[in-house]
Amino acid sequence: MNCFMCKGNLEEKKVNYIVDLENTIIIIKGVPAKVCTCVRRKLCFR
Ligand SMILES: [Zn+2]
Repeated sequence: MNCFMCKGNLEEKKVNYIVDLENTIIIIKGVPAKVCTCVRRKLCFR
């Protein structure tokens, strides 16, 4: 499976997902996600 933005490899990783609401920030830890290994991995994150 490849990154749909840059065609790089995707790794299955546990990430911390931060939800920024108006008054609260919710941090969900250890969410399994496909993360792009390219330099732009933050942009490619999904
Ligand atoms: Zn990518």
